[in-house]
Amino acid sequence: MSFDSLGLSAELLRAVAEQGYSDPTPVQRQAIPVILEGRDILAGAQTGTGKTAGFTLPLLQRLSAEKPAGAGRPVRALILTPTRELAAQVGASVKDYGRHLPLRSTVIFGGVGINPQISELRRGVDILIATPGRLLDHMNQRTVDLSRVEILVLDEADRMLDMGFIHDIRKVLAVLPAKRQTLLFSATFSDEIRALADKLLNSPVPIDVARRNTAVESVTQMVYPVDRVRKRELLSHLIKIEEWSQVLVFTRTKHGANRLAQQLEDDGIQSAAIHGNKSQSARTKALADFKQGKVRVLVATDIAARGIDIDQLPHVVNYELPNVAEDYVHRIGRTGRAGNSGEAVSLVCVDETGLLQGIERLLKRRLPTLVIPEFTPDPRIAAEPIINGRNSNGRSQRPPSQARPNPGAPRQEGRRKPGARTQSSGRAQGSHGNR
Ligand code: AMP
Repeated sequence: MSFDSLGLSAELLRAVAEQGYSDPTPVQRQAIPVILEGRDILAGAQTGTGKTAGFTLPLLQRLSAEKPAGAGRPVRALILTPTRELAAQVGASVKDYGRHLPLRSTVIFGGVGINPQISELRRGVDILIATPGRLLDHMNQRTVDLSRVEILVLDEADRMLDMGFIHDIRKVLAVLPAKRQTLLFSATFSDEIRALADKLLNSPVPIDVARRNTAVESVTQMVYPVDRVRKRELLSHLIKIEEWSQVLVFTRTKHGANRLAQQLEDDGIQSAAIHGNKSQSARTKALADFKQGKVRVLVATDIAARGIDIDQLPHVVNYELPNVAEDYVHRIGRTGRAGNSGEAVSLVCVDETGLLQGIERLLKRRLPTLVIPEFTPDPRIAAEPIINGRNSNGRSQRPPSQARPNPGAPRQEGRRKPGARTQSSGRAQGSHGNR
């Protein structure tokens, strides 16, 4: 099936062709005709499925097909996203796909000056892409008028709820016209999301392309058992020996992200951290450096990584397993996109056995395990429970200078090819008891 048969206008087809897309993705095939009909949708689609074009293309077509009722240039479409990165990325897509149409769009998010946003809004925009917090600031200052919105998109609605935006979203909904088209995208469907969907959507067409909670098939997954104090060393080892050039590494905490990026730098691996405490310009720079290959490793927390869009990201590392099993699926969805194969590696210490089991239950399968001989976990180390992302003693990982010696596994230095370094794979062997 080609884009031509979806009912899109010549201007949009031209923009799509200029992006180099030949065929629509499954979410695009399903969503575009339904949105063009004016129906509401409830879509289960993760980042990487092409969902942004899936809602942006028909949205642009609907707005360009009809003039707004009444005078002036009102905001006619509102796209809410959980993070600044995602807002910026969706804003760029709206500009790309709408380049041959006379529609105006702008992106507003926090962490940057509000005045340029006010000027933009004053000039008039048809499509507004916003994070909930900053949008509320504008509503409070009466610098935005949402009373003539025709289409509302909630992108990554589950993440917006996770981030505590529900009250902000309710306040935004309260000022929107009741008669409108609403498109809700979410990677997961908790009871809370379903309740929100019931309230918001009018006979929605369900669209489910990502097969909920199922890890992308093109991603190879691997678990490396390792003591918690030796994770950094193992990560450096893997990056060097496997010659990984672009690696996205997940940590549980912002502090952990900073520390790990610094430690990798100390190991001679160019790294940067990206998380919510960093300024917008620092985050944008880190991402740009990573995309351009100036930085080899980007260390991120789940929330900060949410909006990152990088084509063909080959390697994702779970330096620490996420507390919520669904986040594992989000994380590994960052690789193996658009037909490219990817690799997702998890460094798992004895404390995380329960988290790993939770992930395997969700995936309905066990993950392959590989013990690297010189990183064989010390069986004498007892598990420490992880509470709120930290061990019971308050640390997320002990600095390497305090690493306990591992008499059972003397370190071996030197380069070896990946194929030669493995000792076991699968639970039947030595790795099993350490999990
Ligand atoms: P998204 O899921 O919207 O974040 O999109 C993921 C990536 O897929 C983006 O880099 C898009 O540029 C790309 N993409 C979207 N639609 C298509 C398509 N039909 N063919 C190839 N790539 C696409």
